[in-house]
Amino acid sequence: MCVMKIILFDLDRTLFDTDWYYEQIVDLIEGNTELSEEAIRSFILEYRANNRYGKWFNFLKFIDDVVENDTTKKEIVDTLKTDVSMYRLFEDVELNLEQLQGLGYKMGVYSEGVPWFQELKLQNTCLLDFLDTELVFITEMKRAIEFLDTLPESCVIVDDTPEVIEVLEKDGRFVPVWLNRKGVEWKYGREIGGLGELVDILAKPC
Ligand SMILES: [Mg+2]
Repeated sequence: MCVMKIILFDLDRTLFDTDWYYEQIVDLIEGNTELSEEAIRSFILEYRANNRYGKWFNFLKFIDDVVENDTTKKEIVDTLKTDVSMYRLFEDVELNLEQLQGLGYKMGVYSEGVPWFQELKLQNTCLLDFLDTELVFITEMKRAIEFLDTLPESCVIVDDTPEVIEVLEKDGRFVPVWLNRKGVEWKYGREIGGLGELVDILAKPC
C-alpha cells in the first residue's frame, strides 16, 4: 500500500488495553474504600452509560461521586497518576511500532476521551518513545468534522471501532485501517487482526 508516511493510532483497545485498565481501577478503588467490587463495577457501568453521548468517563468526577473521604480520594488519584503497573499496552504494540519507526513512519494518536485521562495512558506506557508529539490528537469528539480538519491529510488511521472507520471512509481524506482484535463480524476492505499485519502491508514496496 502506497501511503503518506504518517500513521495515527486510536488509543483505547487499539494500542492500550483499556479493559484491563478498568479492572485495575476497580481493584484500586476496592483496596482503598469500603465499597464492594460489585458496587464499584455497577457504579462504573452506570456512570459510563449516563455519559455515553458526547461525554466520556471522567475519573476525577467519578471518584468525587463515589468516595467521600478527601484523603482517600487523593490517595486513589495519586496512585492512578503514578502507578505504571496499572497501564498495559497490547503485546504486539512495542515491537511493531519499532518496526514501523524503522520503515520511516511518523506516528501519533487519534484518541477520544477526557484529555487528562488519555494523556496518563501515554505518559505511563512507553508510547511516547514512538510517537511524534506533534501528532498527538486527543479530543472528546473525534468524529467531528472540525477535528478531522486538524489531522494530516492522506495519513493512515488505525482504529478498532467500525463506526469511526465508517466516518473516516466517508470523509475521504484519510486511509482508515480497521483493527479487528476480537474477530468481530463486520466487513471492511482494509482489515487487520493485529499490528504485525499492518507492518506486513506497509513494508511491501509500492
Ligand atoms: Mg478504540
